[in-house]
Amino acid sequence: MSDAYSSPAYQFIFRSTSDGILITSKEGVVEQINPAAAAMLGVTVEEALGRSPEMIFSQHPALINLFTRRGSQTLDVRLPKRRLAVGIANTQPDGRRIVMLQDVTEKQELETRREALISTMSHDLRNPISALGGFAELVEKFGELNPQQQKFLTRIRQTAQKLYDVAGSLVDLAWIEAGMPLAHRPINLGLLIDRAVTQLTSLAMERKITIAVSVQDPMPTVIGDPERIQAAIYQLLHNGILYSLGEQTVAVHAWGDMHEAYFSVADRGIGIADDELELIFDRLYRSRDERVRDLPGGGLGLTIARTIVTRHGGDIWASSNLGVGSTFTFVLPAAQP
Ligand code: ADP
Repeated sequence: MSDAYSSPAYQFIFRSTSDGILITSKEGVVEQINPAAAAMLGVTVEEALGRSPEMIFSQHPALINLFTRRGSQTLDVRLPKRRLAVGIANTQPDGRRIVMLQDVTEKQELETRREALISTMSHDLRNPISALGGFAELVEKFGELNPQQQKFLTRIRQTAQKLYDVAGSLVDLAWIEAGMPLAHRPINLGLLIDRAVTQLTSLAMERKITIAVSVQDPMPTVIGDPERIQAAIYQLLHNGILYSLGEQTVAVHAWGDMHEAYFSVADRGIGIADDELELIFDRLYRSRDERVRDLPGGGLGLTIARTIVTRHGGDIWASSNLGVGSTFTFVLPAAQP
């Protein structure tokens, strides 16, 4: 073994870390396996050394995969006793293959429980909330109300609607974060933009906002889940309209090349303070700005949009000047012809 693998510092880390480390030689036999890896995989160090991964780990196809492929790779590896590890593999310049295993069983269980809780809570919340809104509407139908009562009732209805929307977004988020399968279809972004614009035309008219659309022709195709991408487009456009001041234009652009497709929404609305720009994509974050507090919203739209875009291998960001306006942009990888 070369010096790098036998230095005392390396040996110390190798023996004492709780992450599993396995190294195979150029010829494909196990040269090193640390105690953590042996314990995780239910073998002894002696059993493993000098053998090929196919022989000793036949119960763990994902692990064999990590050894037999080239380049860098990450895969979930099922361990004995229903445990789960994330395996990261890399080929060294000297031809050795290193596989690291990180036991994520507890983390995964917590995540699953958290998602189940969010999902149940949101379902259980939506029914009573919608009943609340429904009864508030009924009150008006059974007798004259004074202006004060009317005002309070309107507030009840608006609050119920807001809660209902938040609960709905939590369901979406739990579903997306639970790693729901995404469709894998060719997407025509222009078409999805048209649909989102149609859905939001009445809100725009109500707020005296003009939506200006410019889509490059031809637009590169992207591969993914059209419904989800449309939800991301809808969310950005919805925000552009909502956080605009009246009688202004919200500009929607889409362009791209053979590598990437871009989508942006630019408004001349209230803008976002510099110190909040990093926070707005966080779950449940809403600006401190009073003009935002007065508008309906639960602070989940951008979190969902970001999750959708990143799950498609893309990226999303915002630039803004307080009082001048904001631009939200996302980029997705274009389908290779
Ligand atoms: P919501 O709109 O429901 O509050 P979002 O996650 O969509 O939740 O947005 C989070 C926050 O980001 C908003 O509350 C608002 O403060 C800010 N924001 C989003 N889009 C814009 C925009 N176009 N202009 C100004 N602020 C925005």
